[in-house]
Amino acid sequence: MTKHVPCPTCGKTAAWSVQNRWRPFCSERCRLIDLGAWFEGNYRVPADDQTPAQDGDRERPAQEGD
Ligand SMILES: [Zn+2]
Repeated sequence: MTKHVPCPTCGKTAAWSVQNRWRPFCSERCRLIDLGAWFEGNYRVPADDQTPAQDGDRERPAQEGD
């Protein structure tokens, strides 16, 4: 069964499958748009808000259904 996720760029439903090489985006275009947003700094996290933790994954509770 194919899992579907909302495309982060346009909100359209995108298939999360091996056939969709652009996942979680619906298309190459949306993926590129999102990468562009990254480079423009739109996704920058506040520097003072989080402490970089290289071993932060160690105690993270498992939340993913996979
Ligand atoms: Zn999209």
